[in-house]
Order: sequence, then C-alpha cells, then structure tokens
Amino acid sequence: MNSANDLTILISDKNLDPQLKTIALKVQASERISFDEGVALYEKGELAYLGVLANFIREQRHGNKTYFNRNFHIEPTNLCVYDCKFCSYSRLIKQRSEGWELTMEEMLNIVRKYDDQPVTEVHIVGGVLPQYDMAFYTELFRKIHEHRPELHVKALTPVEYHYIFKKAKVDYATGMRLMKEAGLESMPGGGAEIFHPEVREQIAKDKCTGEQWLQIHEEWHKLGQRSNATILYGHIEQFWHRVDHMEQLRQLQDKTGGFQTFIPLKFRNQDNQMSHIKEVSVIEDLRNYAISRIYLDNFDHIKAYWAMISRSTAQLALNFGVDDIDGTLDDTTKIYSMAGAEEQNPAMSTAELVELIKQVGRHPVERDTLYNVVTDYSNYQPEEKPGARFYKLPVLN
Ligand code: SF4
Repeated sequence: MNSANDLTILISDKNLDPQLKTIALKVQASERISFDEGVALYEKGELAYLGVLANFIREQRHGNKTYFNRNFHIEPTNLCVYDCKFCSYSRLIKQRSEGWELTMEEMLNIVRKYDDQPVTEVHIVGGVLPQYDMAFYTELFRKIHEHRPELHVKALTPVEYHYIFKKAKVDYATGMRLMKEAGLESMPGGGAEIFHPEVREQIAKDKCTGEQWLQIHEEWHKLGQRSNATILYGHIEQFWHRVDHMEQLRQLQDKTGGFQTFIPLKFRNQDNQMSHIKEVSVIEDLRNYAISRIYLDNFDHIKAYWAMISRSTAQLALNFGVDDIDGTLDDTTKIYSMAGAEEQNPAMSTAELVELIKQVGRHPVERDTLYNVVTDYSNYQPEEKPGARFYKLPVLN
C-alpha cells in the first residue's frame, strides 16, 4: 500500500526530528504512543508528517473504505437549563420565544415522515429541559420501537442522562438499564467538550463533569452497548488538554471496549458567548484529525461531520485518518448551521455522498449504526462524470 511506502520514506529522512522519528517508528510497529508524545505531535508535527502517519493507520485498518449512514435527526428542543459558553444552539428558558419544544406526537410525526425511506438510524439530541424526563424519553423510545422496530435509536448524551437520572433519583447503572429496556440502542458522543476541569469550568461549568460523562458511558458499555465520543477543540484549551481528553478516553476504552468512533468537533464562533475567539484553521482541523487517529489506537473509527466542516474539508480529512463522514442528514439538524458551519441546510442524497467519497479515490460503504455493511458502493458508476474536484496532496499521494 502507498501509505506504507510513504511512512518508510518519511522515517528515512535524515532531517526528521528525533522524537518525531521515534513516534513514526512506533506507528510503523503498531505501538502505542505516550502522553508526552501526543503533546509533541501537536507542538512539532507538521501537516504532511501527521498525514503520513494517520493515513498509514487508516489504511491498515480500513484500506480505502469510507463509511457513511442514512439517518435523520430529531432535536426535541433548543431551550436549555444550562448555559455553555460555546453553544450557539441553545436559548435559555428566559428566551423561550426564540426556541422550539417538540411534543411527543411531533417527534413521532418526524419518525413517520421517513416510513418509506431506507434510513437505518434516528439520532435524538437537543437541549436539557425538565419536561423531557425519564418518563418522557422511555415512552418515546418505546413508541419509536413499536412503530418501526428495525430503526436504530441513538439518543441523548450523558449531559441529558445525568440531569434526568438525578431528577428521577436513580443511579447511573439503573438509569442506563431502564433506557436500554425502553429501546435505547446506542449513545452518541456529544457533551464531552474538554474533560479537564480547568477548561470545562470556564466553558460548561454546570453540566455533568468529565468524570461523570465517562462514568455514564462506562455503565452503558457494561450493558454490552456501544457509544461514540467527541472533543470540542479550538477555543481556550491548550494542546495538552486535548491529549488529556484523549488519554481518558483511551483508558476507558482499554477497560470496556465499548466506544466505536471518535469525532473531533471544531469550535465555531457564530452567535455564542465565545464569539471573540478566532476559529482555528482548516490546517489545524486536519492536524487534529490526524493526531486523534494516531493517539487513539484502540478506537476503530475517526469521523468528520461533513455538515460541520464543509464537504471539501471532509474530503481532505479522508487523507488524515478519517474513515467516516457521517450521514445523509436530510436537513434535520440545526446544531451545526446555528454555530456558523458552512453548510446552512445540511442535506446530501446517498448518490451525492457516494460521489463525494469517490471523488477523492476512496471506497464508499453505507453502514448501519454498528458498522454492519448495508451497501458496498465500490462498483457504483455515477450517471454523470464528476467534475475535477480531486484534492491531490503533495507528499501524501
Ligand atoms: S451545549 Fe448542550 S448543554 Fe450546553 S447549553 Fe448547549 S444545548 Fe445546553
């Protein structure tokens, strides 16, 4: 494979920094890198170097396969009892007139709208409000299951669960068991932000702590269930906070093996209380994907949300460790557009997603939530020839 040759050439470079050479040799030998080496990658790793390492790992694990799924979102409300400083999405309860609060029937109507469409997953996540409690969500999950048993319910994050369980006076283990019994099948990765209290207390101080976030995932994994994890990067955190965050995920993954995918989320500065902070560059986005791929040696997948970083950056990311670009979405999420993402009405047909992946020489695979293959599009031929949108990268190709 080309990525193995690229890595051999890179290691033979006499001018390569000795610490970076050690890291490259470890990657070649499939050895784990240390915390200090993770920080060194952020401090010294140039884009091309990081791309060679991350692409080697990506191709060893997945070859050219690039995953996506067909899903839709339900966002129950954009009102929230919390006040995270980076959040462009939520409105405090006092701004109720600017928000929405869906009823159970309205949410079920969204599900019914997809009855004749081959979606495999409903992704439910939104703000935190008292009326969306244990009774509400367990009933919602049950009703979705009754209506369409094969639709995978991926719903809520530890931010919601911590609040709901506290209100219901149940511990995390009991709460997660009750959610599973009601029909919850996976947990998305949101609400992680930056675990370290030094940062978390400044940007998201009232919601669940990093430790509680990890505990809830651990309880979920103990039930034999899978979940994802995120990081919100590119604001006030320092590089070592990012590595600390990944280190805690890596340790929990060693213990449970329950995480499927790591999803780096870029801080966007539109219409929130941190708007004065400049967004990081696309180069930093790509560096961050690559370092995530290198550091998290026990995570199977690294995902880039195309709706958040734009279609062209998502294509580039496929050369920097990313093997999943999320789903078709069908314009059902406002989370990214309200934060200032390039995609203001995020919707892509399956044909468009397949095309996007093929344009950069990768091999599109539609998956379900648990990465079972739904359709392999390796032999798919587009009706029209794609335009010249291939991003040929120096050094890497
Ligand atoms: S990030 Fe989530 S918990 Fe925080 S204010 Fe926004 S919706 Fe609420």
